[in-house]
Amino acid sequence: MSISAKTNNQDEGSSADQYDVVIIGAGLSGMYQLFRLRQLGLSVRVFEAGGGVGGTWYWNRYPGARFDSESWTYGLSFSQELLDEWDWSEHFSPQPETLNYCNYVADKFDLRPDITFEMRAKQAVYDEGANEWEVIFENGHRTKSRFLITAIGPLSAPTMPIIDGVDEYKGEAYHTGTWPHHPVSFEGKRVAVIGTGATGVQTITEVAKAVGHLTVFQRTPNWCAPLHNKPIDKTEMMEIRSRYDEIFETCKNSFGCFIHAADDRLAMEVSAAERDAFYEELYASPGFGIWLGNFRDVLTDQAANDTLTEFVISKIRSRVIDQDLATKLIPTNHGFGMRRIPMESGYYEVYNQDNVELVDVRDTPIERITENGIKTSDGNYEFDMIIYATGFDAITGAFDRIDIRGIGGASLKEKWADGPETYLGLQIAGFPNMLTLVGPHNAATFCNIPRCIEQNVEWVTDLMRYMSEHNYSRIEASKKAEDDWTQHVYDSAAQLLLLKADSWMTGINTNVAGRQKRTFMAYAGGAPKYRAICEDVAANDYKGFKLS
Ligand SMILES: Cc1cc2nc3c(=O)[nH]c(=O)nc-3n(C[C@H](O)[C@H](O)[C@H](O)COP(=O)(O)OP(=O)(O)OC[C@H]3O[C@@H](n4cnc5c(N)ncnc54)[C@H](O)[C@@H]3O)c2cc1C
Repeated sequence: MSISAKTNNQDEGSSADQYDVVIIGAGLSGMYQLFRLRQLGLSVRVFEAGGGVGGTWYWNRYPGARFDSESWTYGLSFSQELLDEWDWSEHFSPQPETLNYCNYVADKFDLRPDITFEMRAKQAVYDEGANEWEVIFENGHRTKSRFLITAIGPLSAPTMPIIDGVDEYKGEAYHTGTWPHHPVSFEGKRVAVIGTGATGVQTITEVAKAVGHLTVFQRTPNWCAPLHNKPIDKTEMMEIRSRYDEIFETCKNSFGCFIHAADDRLAMEVSAAERDAFYEELYASPGFGIWLGNFRDVLTDQAANDTLTEFVISKIRSRVIDQDLATKLIPTNHGFGMRRIPMESGYYEVYNQDNVELVDVRDTPIERITENGIKTSDGNYEFDMIIYATGFDAITGAFDRIDIRGIGGASLKEKWADGPETYLGLQIAGFPNMLTLVGPHNAATFCNIPRCIEQNVEWVTDLMRYMSEHNYSRIEASKKAEDDWTQHVYDSAAQLLLLKADSWMTGINTNVAGRQKRTFMAYAGGAPKYRAICEDVAANDYKGFKLS
């Protein structure tokens, strides 16, 4: 096979392994890509920073971590046996169950022998003369391969807040994205949670059940909506299983591969009473329906969005007893749905507890972390535990943490300093033979992600097969294709109101230097359109790519 490098595999742990393909990351993307490329007869090795498979579900063990995708739409769909064997026990599975699922997938398809754990890539360098990549790991290990596939995750680079004194604190301290493997008790403790994004909302709701006293430090309130999770019994699981074909077909044809698709109506073409009745119905329904299954213009038309925003405000006000507190919990700088909606199970009611306090850091900023707690402009708070629910350097963060060097030593981080540039969110001009699963400007970033992972992985697998059949060993996006795609990404997002809000979708993260300028990280043309474009590129001999 011409796409093969000289495969001179050596034992794990040696200093110069060589493979056809190196994959970084053993979440669902890396695992499924490994499975597919092995079927092509390629030598493939996965390197994973963590001690096990599962990616997101390996790391995010914080209390309350669970899906906001319906479990039965999230699982991998490529194997009928897997679908037949795996039972989901809740409509929105908690993290331990999803991690079990990832382990089940790894065992069922015997993936572990081809994965090396506890290997964090720190540098990846393309050698033009040899047409191969060398990856260098933090422990000094090096490996070479013809192809490099990044499966490093959209939400896998945890960020700490930029606050003085973080290292001085002497109590227990955890980040939700690197939660310890041992049990953590909150019983009787004075606990602080910093951050009220999706992970903060889940953590706060769960910690509040057991804590002595909880203080939530909020900078930006988010619009949250009820998840309405419930168990799945054997009978219901059988019923779901009997509908898998239909479920995956629905996902395939919806904008973000969820079962929720926008309603055909415009918000203003129905009466106010009808509109409110529809909002009530969605608010009482499970999952992302209120966000993604709403009137088709609520995310694009300001007046339509205002009606939904007003409705959700009334819901928050009805759930929080203290109306001054409710006011603090209501976002004022963006409308409902302009950021990914944290799904909650009793979040607002937490603030009705006597032992829960909200500190709005817009009014009283955090000045520093002290030995015993947190100092704000208003005074000192002492805590037994601080939980940092401060999220991730999303989408490009995991790339930036690897020093990736393409042709002539060009740095990917520098290339993307003003925002990502890619072709199809899968390849980058100047970085031949590197493919980016769930990368920036890829539909997977705006998706019920495994549905898009399957599309990404199968497209890359077909590409590898094509290259092999045509005796090609090098692929690189042309600069023009990359420029055209990048423009298309921005054009597709142009009508979205969310472009006006600071969020990880628009590239803003005040906890990361250099992430203060708005750009656009995702692809907003919708998964069906994205899939059609990718298929068209493949059907036309991978137009836009230079193959040799
Ligand atoms: C709390 C939480 C809840 C979520 N809920 C949903 C949901 O309900 N629905 C949904 O669609 N998506 C959800 N997501 C998004 C989730 O990330 C994706 O669904 C999916 O898990 C992505 O899989 P992946 O394999 O692409 O990336 P990941 O699962 O993030 O795996 C990437 C792997 O790459 C490894 N890695 C990264 N950098 C390096 C390096 N330098 N060297 C070696 N290894 C490296 C990481 O350790 C990690 O294991 C959620 C994310 C979080 C954080």
